[in-house]
Amino acid sequence: MAVQTALSTQCDVLIVGGGIAGASLGARLAGDQRVILIEAEDLCGRHSTGRSAAFWEASLGAGPARRLSFASRPMFEAGWPGSSTPLLRRRGTVHLTGPHGDRIEGAEDLTGEHALVYLNRAELDRMIPGLREQWTGAWYEQSCADIEVAAFHAACLAAIRRDGGEVRTDAALRSAQRSGGAWEVETAAGPIRAGILVNAAGAWADDVAVRAGVPGIGLQPMRRTVVQLRVGRDGLRDLPLVTDLHTSFYFKGEGDRSVWVSPLDETPVEPCDAAPEEIDVATAIDRFEKAVEWPVEAVERKWAGLRTFAPDRTLKLGFDPGEPRFFWCAGQGGMGIQTAPAASLLCATLIRGEPLPAELAGIDPADFQPR
Ligand SMILES: Cc1cc2nc3c(=O)[nH]c(=O)nc-3n(C[C@H](O)[C@H](O)[C@H](O)COP(=O)(O)OP(=O)(O)OC[C@H]3O[C@@H](n4cnc5c(N)ncnc54)[C@H](O)[C@@H]3O)c2cc1C
Repeated sequence: MAVQTALSTQCDVLIVGGGIAGASLGARLAGDQRVILIEAEDLCGRHSTGRSAAFWEASLGAGPARRLSFASRPMFEAGWPGSSTPLLRRRGTVHLTGPHGDRIEGAEDLTGEHALVYLNRAELDRMIPGLREQWTGAWYEQSCADIEVAAFHAACLAAIRRDGGEVRTDAALRSAQRSGGAWEVETAAGPIRAGILVNAAGAWADDVAVRAGVPGIGLQPMRRTVVQLRVGRDGLRDLPLVTDLHTSFYFKGEGDRSVWVSPLDETPVEPCDAAPEEIDVATAIDRFEKAVEWPVEAVERKWAGLRTFAPDRTLKLGFDPGEPRFFWCAGQGGMGIQTAPAASLLCATLIRGEPLPAELAGIDPADFQPR
């Protein structure tokens, strides 16, 4: 006989969005708050989180976002929040130098294990045979790693449930109204009364805010495409991430004879179930063929996802100044996976109203204020 479990209609914190932003914050809070996470889709992770290129790179981003990446690294290495699979796998990045110059923004911050090592052309050829001649050398960033995104996301959702929280799919937020000290929320799966409403709805975060009567902050989803190519060359699985200083492409090994290639497209779109455009797929192949001499045999897979940015391209983590029970966890752009362990700790600390823990030393919440 099927056992019916009654769904709670009350919680301390209602998290809207089951991607990595919402799931990681839920994992931080569920131990001492009654948490419900609601996801519009039938499965958490269908949108940006399930479509990333899955790497952790120290040189990505600048200033405050980079500090979140650095604070996240040891948390990934420790398997937070209880993953039985290692969450990072060392890959390395080769930043090709030549036509686009040789400067990496904020290179002076990259020290110790994140330091860049210069490779001349002969050293580069030994690492990646078949590069075309325009590349005069490269900066090698050895600490770049693949993130096991699916395992990380699943561990976060499991932690919410293990600690007594609920994860509800097919449960889109439709509207939310403040009533005294609480939110009365209508969802596709019924009403919920919540003390704090967390907006972790990715590309839809402005839409969710407006549904709660809070003005949007001008978030802009940008489409990005990735193509998996079969190449006439083997031994590619552990190929480093290779990029022209993140100017027009990156590629990295996937299978023995396949690579993931992105043309670094950044097309502004409305929030949607993003799909790749033929022009972006063709551009990816063209840029790959202009970078290496390896023959492209087939397009094995292609997909697109949304990277959502605030106007100043900084993550927005904090209570809305005009609505103190409405918390933003949005604008993760292209760094939402690699910053999630520290960003979720920062958000949980702000929600609890506690001082920042030692793991977040050097991070200033003011840098992430929503408005
Ligand atoms: C091609 C590509 C490559 C990338 N590569 C990397 C990388 O290598 N490293 C990295 O760190 N980051 C990378 N990113 C960025 C990263 O994927 C995002 O920053 C991150 O996934 C954002 O997570 P999120 O939870 O905010 O959004 P999402 O995963 O999109 O989750 C938001 C969720 O909210 C739900 N939702 C929306 N409206 C409602 C509603 N009304 N009610 C309930 N639920 C709702 C949506 O269905 C969705 O599931 C990449 C992104 C793309 C597209």
